[in-house]
Amino acid sequence: MEQQQPLLEVEQCVTSIPEDHEATCWGCGLRLVFASYSPVFKCGWCGAITQSNQTSRKPDSICFSRWRRFRDGFFVTVLVLFMLFVICGGVWAVYPVVFSVSMFCGIFHCTVTALFAVFTIASYGLASFKSAGAPASIRWGSYPMVGKNDLENYTFCTYCSKPKPPRAHHCRSCKMCVVDMDHHCPFIGNCVGASNHRAFVIFLISVVMSCSYAAIMTIYASYHVWPTLDFQNLSSSRHSMSYMKVLMEFITILANSVFFLPARGIILVYLSFASLSVNAGIAVLLCQQLSYIYDGNSYLNRLSSPNVVHGERGLQNLVRFFGCPYPLSRVFLGYLNTGKSQDNSGSKLL
Ligand SMILES: [Zn+2]
Ligand SMILES: [Zn+2]
Ligand SMILES: [Zn+2]
Repeated sequence: MEQQQPLLEVEQCVTSIPEDHEATCWGCGLRLVFASYSPVFKCGWCGAITQSNQTSRKPDSICFSRWRRFRDGFFVTVLVLFMLFVICGGVWAVYPVVFSVSMFCGIFHCTVTALFAVFTIASYGLASFKSAGAPASIRWGSYPMVGKNDLENYTFCTYCSKPKPPRAHHCRSCKMCVVDMDHHCPFIGNCVGASNHRAFVIFLISVVMSCSYAAIMTIYASYHVWPTLDFQNLSSSRHSMSYMKVLMEFITILANSVFFLPARGIILVYLSFASLSVNAGIAVLLCQQLSYIYDGNSYLNRLSSPNVVHGERGLQNLVRFFGCPYPLSRVFLGYLNTGKSQDNSGSKLL
């Protein structure tokens, strides 16, 4: 008699094994019989994975749902206000300085700022309002309707009471399953999944570019509006002072000059610090996202099984993710993969 092994050890067709332990496949409704008890098994007909203890879960409490909605609303409001503040405050504080340099610089600055602002807000809107990726509806539940391998590696979502495709996860904030779910982002008030992942990464890229530009321009403008520092006393007595004392004296003069900064200067200093800090944080997040895409993985999959490689690694994942046309990706990757076999650069890449 053939022994049924747990799913993680070996996958077997179990529909024809006559023995004591019985269970029903949720996918096709067939009764499965096995030699030994296993908490997780895969149907040999439809390919669905059944957990013996799966029962429909109660919906989340109203308090929990309200808390998640409040949290998302709070983060979205803070982020939108911050973006508007950086755009409006940056334009107001920087434009007199750039227009004082030349009319061309002023117009160039206004154009670049407008482009960054539109690009960032548009990608934010797309990532935020576009559905993250609901699973396609699929027939399930009874044998004649469900064909061979129709539900290959599908699991059953006990929240939605519906089939859940491989690599999909249920989000309790969005109250739905999301295909290729990466994570639920409270700053966009939405999940990051198959449909809006590209918009989310483009948003991160546009934030990094916008904040870098904002940091450069605000530091440049701060330098121009900063009151003149009086180093006369310091230069006359610096030979008789230690390095530490010179440094302390310099910092004191700099700190005192802050009190003479105009309102425009204070906004500029704040904006330069804020854009540098946001830039650092978002750049780390962007690098993490790009590395997951390169690995053919997602944040949640990495968390649930850190040592499992879910897809093929390589630059082709990044090219495919950003939707480069077929000939361009082929030429680009063919160039980078010089030295690899022809088979690898052909069938696997595209
Ligand atoms: Zn089945
Ligand atoms: Zn679900
Ligand atoms: Zn979500």
